[in-house]
Amino acid sequence: MADLPPLREVIARHGLSASKALGQNFLFDEQLLDRIAAIPGDLAGKKVLEVGPGPGGLTRALLRAGAEVTAIEMDSRCLPALAELGEAFPGKLKVIQGDALKLDHAEIMGGEPFAVLSNLPYNVGTALFVRWLGGESWPPLWTSLTLMFQQEVAQRIAATPDNSAYGRLGVLAQWRSAAKMAMKVHRSAFTPPPKVMSAIVHVEPREMPEGVSARMLERLTEAAFGQRRKMLRQSLKGVPGAVEALEQVGIDSQRRAETLSVDDFVKLARILSA
Ligand code: SAM
Repeated sequence: MADLPPLREVIARHGLSASKALGQNFLFDEQLLDRIAAIPGDLAGKKVLEVGPGPGGLTRALLRAGAEVTAIEMDSRCLPALAELGEAFPGKLKVIQGDALKLDHAEIMGGEPFAVLSNLPYNVGTALFVRWLGGESWPPLWTSLTLMFQQEVAQRIAATPDNSAYGRLGVLAQWRSAAKMAMKVHRSAFTPPPKVMSAIVHVEPREMPEGVSARMLERLTEAAFGQRRKMLRQSLKGVPGAVEALEQVGIDSQRRAETLSVDDFVKLARILSA
C-alpha cells in the first residue's frame, strides 16, 4: 500500500485554501473517508466516477479500496495534488479538469458500468442527482450513487409518504431505484465546517416498472407537489386525464400528494403514458 502524506500537509504544500465560490468543504479524517468508500461494497477492480475530488481525500480512500478512479474536478489548483496521488497508484487514477454538469459521463467512462461516489457542493450535487435519475433510458450505466448532501436533502431523497420531507425528490429517487440514508456526517468533520449537518445517500437502480414514461411521472409529481397543500383534484387539473386516472386506480381525489405512495404515482403515470 502506498504511503501517503497526511491530507493537511498536501493542502498546505499546494496552497489549497478552500474556495467558498466552488463550495469547497474538505474531509481530512481518513477513517471516515474509508468508511464512505466502503458504502457501495467491494470496489476492488471496479470503475468509479468521483465528481469533485478536491485535494483527493475520498479519492485516496477509493484507490486504497482497489477502485479504478476517474475524477472530474473543476478547480485547476487541485490538479498537482491529484497528479501526486496518481503517481502513488500507477494507472489507477485518471483526472479530468472540467465542470461535471457539462460533461458526458457515459462517454468519459468508456461506456462501461461504474459506481459514482462524490462529496460535492450541494447545488451541483442536486442537479447531477436529478440528471442521473432522470431520462427514459433504464437501467443506467451507473451501478450505484453514493453522494453527500445536506441532511435535509438526504431526508427528502429517502422520505416515505405522510412525512413532510416526502416530495418530488423522493418519488424520483424511489420509483425505479432503492434509496437510503447511509451515513450522517457531522458538520465538524469538514474544513471549513458548513452551516448545516450532512448525510450520505446511497442509491441503487431497480428494474423499471413497465409502461411508464419517466417524463410523465415527472410531470405528475411536479403538478401534485407544486401545490402540495391542495387536494389532488385541484393540483392535477393541468395534467390532461390525471383527475380521471385517480378514479381509475381508486384514489380519492380529495387526498393530497404527500399521502400517495411511490407506487400510486407509478400507477397513475402508467395510465397517462398509455
Ligand atoms: N471530495 C473532496 C473532499 O471530500 O474533501 C472535496 C469536496 S468539496 C465539498 C467539492 C469539490 O467539488 C471541490 O473540490 C470543487 O472544486 C469541486 N467542484 C465544484 N463544482 C464542480 C463541478 N461543477 N464539477 C466538478 N467539480 C466541481
